[in-house]
Amino acid sequence: MNNMNNHGDANKMHAHNHDIKCNVTNCYYNDQHFCSANAIEVNAQGDGYAHTSDGTACSTFVDK
Ligand code: SF4
Repeated sequence: MNNMNNHGDANKMHAHNHDIKCNVTNCYYNDQHFCSANAIEVNAQGDGYAHTSDGTACSTFVDK
């Protein structure tokens, strides 16, 4: 089955992932406050060591 979408991106699932709630609604992968990417990568910000969740960010984010 070809799961390529109009953006030519094979990494986006047909349905969003109910295990990953995300409120970054301007992300290409965001679908009704859930993530639709097959996988995401989250990295620590700044010096690379997160002290709280505020120090983390999704590197998979793509602006719509
Ligand atoms: S790729 Fe990251 S920022 Fe985008 S919807 Fe998924 S979890 Fe949110």
